[in-house]
Amino acid sequence: MTFNNMGLSPSFLKILEAQNYIRPYPIQEEAIPAILNKNDVLGIAKTGSGKTASYVLPVLMNLQKDIVLKSRHVTTLVLVPTRELAVQVNDVFTLFARAMSQKIKSQAVFGGASINPQMKALQNVNVLVATPGRLLELVDVNAVHLSEVKTLVLDEADKILNKGFKKEVNQIIDFLPERRQNLLFSATLNDDISNINQIILHDPIVIKIESQEENIDLITQSAYFIAEEKKGPLLRYLIKSKGMSQVLIFTSSVARADRVADKLRKSGIDAQSIHRRKKQGARTDLLTKFKHDKLRVLVATDLLSRGIDIEFLPYVINYELPRSPKVFVHRIGRTGRAESTGEAISLISPEEEHHFKVIEKKMKKRIPKIDCSDLDLAGI
Ligand code: AMP
Repeated sequence: MTFNNMGLSPSFLKILEAQNYIRPYPIQEEAIPAILNKNDVLGIAKTGSGKTASYVLPVLMNLQKDIVLKSRHVTTLVLVPTRELAVQVNDVFTLFARAMSQKIKSQAVFGGASINPQMKALQNVNVLVATPGRLLELVDVNAVHLSEVKTLVLDEADKILNKGFKKEVNQIIDFLPERRQNLLFSATLNDDISNINQIILHDPIVIKIESQEENIDLITQSAYFIAEEKKGPLLRYLIKSKGMSQVLIFTSSVARADRVADKLRKSGIDAQSIHRRKKQGARTDLLTKFKHDKLRVLVATDLLSRGIDIEFLPYVINYELPRSPKVFVHRIGRTGRAESTGEAISLISPEEEHHFKVIEKKMKKRIPKIDCSDLDLAGI
């Protein structure tokens, strides 16, 4: 499946190409046609699955026909749990709204910030991305009206309810017209979500995207037991002997990421480190190069792992173990996607052995172990 045959207009396709979105993610394959078709949708998918674009694109396409041009009346309302998500989602709307022939204005509003600038900014807004509490404050002072909303989105609905916004959500729903499209995205399907589904959604198309934890069986895993000081030579040996072409390596600190990349370069392996101390521009350049196979090895810290949105990687190496099993799964998850299988290798020093057992237990998986004590790494 490509984006070309999904009913999106050529101007959207251009932006997708510029963003390096080569193929739709599974949630996009299912949600885009359903939303274009004006169905209600229940999407069970986590952040990182591509859920934002899965609704932003079709909602904007539909908006071209539905747009309401009454002052301070929004056409699309997106409810989110946090300020961070509000800003993120608004950025995606703003990015893709550039493809529209009509001018579409999108705006984020959230609590914990002064209300006055947000009130002023609401003039001529078509898409409003809001946290529930602040939205009600703005409705109260007539800064925005919800009576013309054509599409309601609840993004990270489980978090919205966890944060105690249930009452606010119900109040907001009372302001909306009966006839509208409803889209609800949640990482989990619990009782709260089932209840709210029944109130909000009409005959929804249900889309469930398997999480990385469920995908873990697609990954070939191995663990090399090795003394800490021999991890460097073993890493070089593995990259060279297995002929690895695109490798993502994780370390636990910025200094270690720099040192590992440095050593790899000195032994003739094209490697760069990426972490919070590098400027944004430099990080983007490195990621683009890595994505396009123009850089063989990227050494990253966990802080940045979320930003590395490469759909599939053949190799991930844990140079050091992360603190939590969840992060371990997140790190290696990017090698096992759809039909492609990848390899995840962990280098375990004697000090890390106990922690490694904890990770295995939490994952409910035994990882094959390779004892490297006899491996001759001299001169590598
Ligand atoms: P989300 O789950 O919406 O937070 O998206 C996770 C990340 O995936 C974001 O950084 C998006 O830019 C990126 N992304 C979404 N869809 C695609 C795609 N089809 N191809 C490549 N990257 C994508």
